[in-house]
Amino acid sequence: MQAGLNRIERIKSEKDGLKVREELESFASKGFGSITQADLERLKWWGVFWRKNTPELFMLRLRVPGGVLKSSQMRAVAQIAAMGDGNIQFTTRQGIQLRGFKITSVPEALRILEEAGLSTRQTGMDNVHNVMGCPVAGLDRHELIDVSSLVKQVSGLAAGTQEFSNLPRKMLISISGCLDDCAHSGINDLAFTAAIRQRGRFRMTGFNVRVGGMLGPHGQRLAEPLDAFVLPEEVVGLCRAVLELFREWGNRRERSRGRLAFLIEEWGLDRFRAEVERRMGQVLLPAATEHLCWGADHAGVHPQRQHGYSYVGVSVPLGALHLPIFKEVIRLAEEYGRGEIRLTQAQNLIIPHVVNSRIPSMLREKVMDRIPFMPGSLAGGVVACTGAGRCDKGLAHTKSHALRVIKELEARYPWVQSLTGQLRIHFSGCPSSCGQHQIADIGLQGRLVRVGGQLVEAFDVYVGGRLGADARLAEKWAEAVPADKLVDVIYEVIVALKGQPVYKGVGMGKYVPGVSAV
Ligand code: SF4
Repeated sequence: MQAGLNRIERIKSEKDGLKVREELESFASKGFGSITQADLERLKWWGVFWRKNTPELFMLRLRVPGGVLKSSQMRAVAQIAAMGDGNIQFTTRQGIQLRGFKITSVPEALRILEEAGLSTRQTGMDNVHNVMGCPVAGLDRHELIDVSSLVKQVSGLAAGTQEFSNLPRKMLISISGCLDDCAHSGINDLAFTAAIRQRGRFRMTGFNVRVGGMLGPHGQRLAEPLDAFVLPEEVVGLCRAVLELFREWGNRRERSRGRLAFLIEEWGLDRFRAEVERRMGQVLLPAATEHLCWGADHAGVHPQRQHGYSYVGVSVPLGALHLPIFKEVIRLAEEYGRGEIRLTQAQNLIIPHVVNSRIPSMLREKVMDRIPFMPGSLAGGVVACTGAGRCDKGLAHTKSHALRVIKELEARYPWVQSLTGQLRIHFSGCPSSCGQHQIADIGLQGRLVRVGGQLVEAFDVYVGGRLGADARLAEKWAEAVPADKLVDVIYEVIVALKGQPVYKGVGMGKYVPGVSAV
C-alpha cells in the first residue's frame, strides 16, 4: 500500500465498500441520520448514491451488462421506479438510473431487483462499472462476433466477487463485435474491438485491444492501441491481467491521477504490454485488421440475422421515460417481440425479435408518438446527462436546454430536419463529461458565466468528435456561450459542418464494403 493515501483510500482501508451492505437494514430502520459520511461513500459500491441537492433521497444505478433486459426484469424496474420518483433514466453506459428513494425503501428495492436477476452492485466508485457491448449483439447481420456471452463473463469477473472491488479508480470496459464501434472503444479504459487475422487460407476472428481511454475533469484521452490481438476465449484472461495490474500499481495517492491512463503514461505502452503478457503467461499476437466505422445509433427498423425478424430502434427523448410510457414499452416488447429490450449508448431503446409481418401494426401503436422510430436528424442524436438541478456537480441544466435548442432549431430552420443521417449533439452539465460531449459532432459542456453582474448558465461548444476508425476528440469551437445564445452558435456549426465531406452522412456508415460477417 502506498504512503499518503487519499480520503477515499482511507475510507476503503477502514472497511471495504461492499461490506456496507450488511448495515443497510440498520440504516433503513434507524433513518438517514444514522449513516456516516464514510458509509454514504461506501453505499456507492452498491449503486446507492446520495445526492446533495435531493436531501435524504438516493439514486439507484443498475448494472445491465451489454444493455440486455428481459421483460420480467423490466417489470421489476417499473415496480421499484414507482417507489421512487417514477422516472426511468437510461445512461450512456447502457445502464439505468432511478431516483427519489428514501433509505427506508432501499433494502426492499435491492431485494426486488436481485430476485429479478438484476443488480446495482459495483456501479459506482472504484469498481468496474457496467460492461458495455453492442446493443444489437446476436442480431446484427454484419457483426463479426456475438459478444453477448463475453460481456456477461467479463461482468462476472469484475463484479461477481470482492476480488476487484477496491481499484484505485473506476475502470470502464467495452467489447465491440460489430463494425460500428457501438460500444465506444475509444473512451474506455480497456476496450476490445472485433478484428480478423488472415494468414493465407487461415482466418482467425478475435479482438484488438485498446487501453487508457477516459473522459472527464482530469483529462480526455482516446484509448491507445495495445498492438495486441486476442481470441474470444482469451478476453477474460486479458481483463484479469489488466485488472490485477491496475489494482496493484494504479495511483492511490492522487485520485486525479488514478485512472488506468496514468499508469500507462508512467510505465509507457511497451512496459504495460509486457506486464500484461507476463500476467497472462503468454505472448500476445500483434493487432490484426479491423474494419471499424462510426455507426449511427440504431433507430429505425432493421432486419436481423435471424430470417424473418427485425429489431426496432426507438428514440427516447432526452434519455428518460416516465413510468406509464416505460410500461407501454414493456407491453410492446412482450406483444411484438420476445419480451426483450436492449439499451443503447445514446440512451435509446431497441425492441428485438419482431416478426416482419407484425412491424406495421407495431409502428402504428399510439405510444410510438412518444418514442419515435424515425426521430429526425437532430432529435435522434441528442444525448444529455442528468445536469444541474438533479446532479450536484452540474453547472448547467442539460435536458431542458437540449429540448429547447432542438425545438427552436427545427422551428427557425426547418431544413435541418432533412440533414442526411444523424447529427450527434451531446450535452454535459459539467467537465465530468457524462454526456460524452467530446465524441459528438457538436458537444456542449456546461459552465457558469457572469453576464451583467448575474451568473448565468452557459456552454463551451466543441465540434467534430467521433469514434470508430478515424477517432478523434472534438475541438473547441466557442467558449462560454450563454444558454440563450446557444441556438445561433449551433446553427452556425451545422452550416459549417454541412459543407465538410467528413461530416456528410454522419452516422450513416454501416460497414466497409468487402468485409463479410463470419
Ligand atoms: Fe452531473 Fe456533470 Fe455528470 Fe452531467 S456531466 S451527470 S452534471 S457530473
